[in-house]
Amino acid sequence: MKPPAKPTAVQRPGFPVRLAPDAGTPSATKNVAGRAHPERATGLFDLKLPAKAVISSGVGMDSRAVRARMVQKLAAQGIADAQVLAALGHVERHRFVDTALVNQAYEDTSLPIGLGQTISKPNVVARMLELLRQGAGSPSGKLGRVLEIGTGCGYQAAVLAQLASEVYSIERLRGLHDKARENLRAFRLANVHLLFGDGMAGYAKGAPYAAIIAAAGGEEIPPAWVEQLAVGGRLVAPMHIAGRAGGAQALVVLDKTAQGVTQTILEAVHFVPLKSGTS
Ligand code: SAH
Repeated sequence: MKPPAKPTAVQRPGFPVRLAPDAGTPSATKNVAGRAHPERATGLFDLKLPAKAVISSGVGMDSRAVRARMVQKLAAQGIADAQVLAALGHVERHRFVDTALVNQAYEDTSLPIGLGQTISKPNVVARMLELLRQGAGSPSGKLGRVLEIGTGCGYQAAVLAQLASEVYSIERLRGLHDKARENLRAFRLANVHLLFGDGMAGYAKGAPYAAIIAAAGGEEIPPAWVEQLAVGGRLVAPMHIAGRAGGAQALVVLDKTAQGVTQTILEAVHFVPLKSGTS
């Protein structure tokens, strides 16, 4: 997925893709901590990227080839849902990370996004979205309304926007909420609603949700999430499992049916903590 080209853009089909489509070059000059760093404005990432993925101006990259390679790897790792793979293939992940990390944007690795938080690795995003779509109530096409807890940089929200009719995404850190808004602005995703607040309370106004996905793990699934999940809906979240060594986190799938709620504990994962309140 690329933001629509501006009419004034130089006609070079497919590329260059500008790294900071809305804010212009200033945001391409930020370092990992998000501070302005003018001397690193351009030419940083073109040292390491494969030649094909780099454009000569040094202010953008054509990521189609690397995105396609990332999707191939995800498929080889066992992600089978064609719609999930297509959604991941559409979204330019490099737009959501700091300039200094652009050359790692399509590797299967989590990356820092500021304020001590991380963007999940593509394999985990794909796995969770695949699980969401396998929920009992999921139609073969798009999911209905989805609630995401932990907007972070907005990457997963952009992927979800391809798979759901509406995405409500909550972030408790103002700095990241603002960053996600900036990152997503150029994509003009009318179906993504960014909310600033404590996601532990969910977002009752958008309920019931066909699916709920969390990118941060606590000791339990907050009751509000279960309440706001539609009957037939599915929730996927990391959670610390009491009794596992060191209270290790695992992925939890919760299905809500007319008969009640079933919980399935899956593989170990490592997510940032789910915290209450805002900051
Ligand atoms: N999906 C995100 C991943 C961000 S990491 C992305 O694509 O970038 C998880 C995020 O959850 C962090 O930004 C953290 O601040 C946020 N978080 C933790 N507890 C939260 C809460 N109670 N409500 C909302 N967000 C929360």
